[in-house]
Parts: sequence; structure tokens; C-alpha cells
Amino acid sequence: MINTEDLVSRNATFAARGAHKGLHILGNGNLMVVGCVDSRVDPSHVLGLDLGEATVIRNVGGRVNPAVFRTLLMLAKVREAHGGDRPAGTHIVVMQHTDCGIKDIAAFPEMLANDFGPDPPA
Ligand SMILES: [Zn+2]
Repeated sequence: MINTEDLVSRNATFAARGAHKGLHILGNGNLMVVGCVDSRVDPSHVLGLDLGEATVIRNVGGRVNPAVFRTLLMLAKVREAHGGDRPAGTHIVVMQHTDCGIKDIAAFPEMLANDFGPDPPA
């Protein structure tokens, strides 16, 4: 099992490699991926993305929900803060997968309604 010491060491190794240096927070700006938090299907690994190649937003189920729209609005502001010199996302991938854990919370419709916006069942 991984521990905090391992994580700190991995972070130091990552920082020392410097692969992130010179990359923009918005990546190359033309690819955004919405994917699930499931540890088995990390969008960067599944799609073979390099650092800085895409903006990845993850939530339970990889769903486009109000929180994703809020994040996209914030990213638009980040883009503006950088003078708008980054291209807007022109390619958005919504990546879902088989055996997703979101089906396991079907017994909690209030939770799903709160996350996706529709009114909960009466
Ligand atoms: Zn999932």
C-alpha cells in the first residue's frame, strides 16, 4: 500500500525531472476530456496523453454535470487571464466506461439528482 513518504518521494522525482516546465495550465488548448474518477480508467493513461496535451476533468461516472460546466467557465476565465492567447477547446471527449461504479449509487436517486440537476423523485 502506498504511503505519504512514497508520495512525497514521487512528487520530488516528478519536480526534478522538470517535464512540466514550460507547459501551460490549459495544455495545448484544443483537447478537453471528461472522464470517471475510477482508478482503472485514468483518461491520461487510456488515451496515452502526455503532460500538457489535454485538460482532464474527472467525476463519478464521467458525466457532464453542472460542476463540469462551472469548471469550464472557470477555465475560460483562466484563458482570459492569460490574454486569451490559448486556443479554446475544440475537441471535447466525454469518456465513460464499462463496469462504472456510478451504477452502484442508483439506490440513492437524491444524490444523483443533486449532482446532475434534475429534480429528485417525489
Ligand atoms: Zn466510472
